[in-house]
Amino acid sequence: MQDTNCIFCKIVLGQIPAIKVFESDTALAFLDVGPLAEGHVLIVPKEHYSDIRKITPEELALVMTPIPKLAAAIMRATGAQGLNFLQNTGAVAGQSVFHLHFHLIPRNDSDGLGYRWNAGKYAEGRAEELRTKIMAELA
Ligand code: 5GP
Ligand code: ZN
Repeated sequence: MQDTNCIFCKIVLGQIPAIKVFESDTALAFLDVGPLAEGHVLIVPKEHYSDIRKITPEELALVMTPIPKLAAAIMRATGAQGLNFLQNTGAVAGQSVFHLHFHLIPRNDSDGLGYRWNAGKYAEGRAEELRTKIMAELA
């Protein structure tokens, strides 16, 4: 089911143009219009899901199936040394299009993008508390 107001649904339906690089029955991959690096690709399920929490595991598996080949192809085509594969859920995490999508961003030493991963540290007992809470939510 598509959302008529959604930009990625419109791309899936061919209502607005995109530079497509891969298509299956379930997924579509196309160049990001505002690339962080040349060859920055987005892969989306053809169905509309607002974020990672909404898709079924079975459909997600189908969307992920082409990733190893796609990542390798992007890296070879761009000569990239590395690649970031990421998904943003929620505006606070940087999500701006609310149709589930995964970024494949080719990376190079000299791309100037950097990598911020400001690792924190748990206070005594906090990691175990969080484990209990997460496992209760999973149950
Ligand atoms: P987010 O911030 O939601 O994780 O990523 C959304 C991405 O979609 C951004 O990198 C943005 O450049 C890209 N984007 C937004 N609108 C369009 C569009 O109309 N076409 C294409 N190809 N990419 C888009
Ligand atoms: Zn959509």
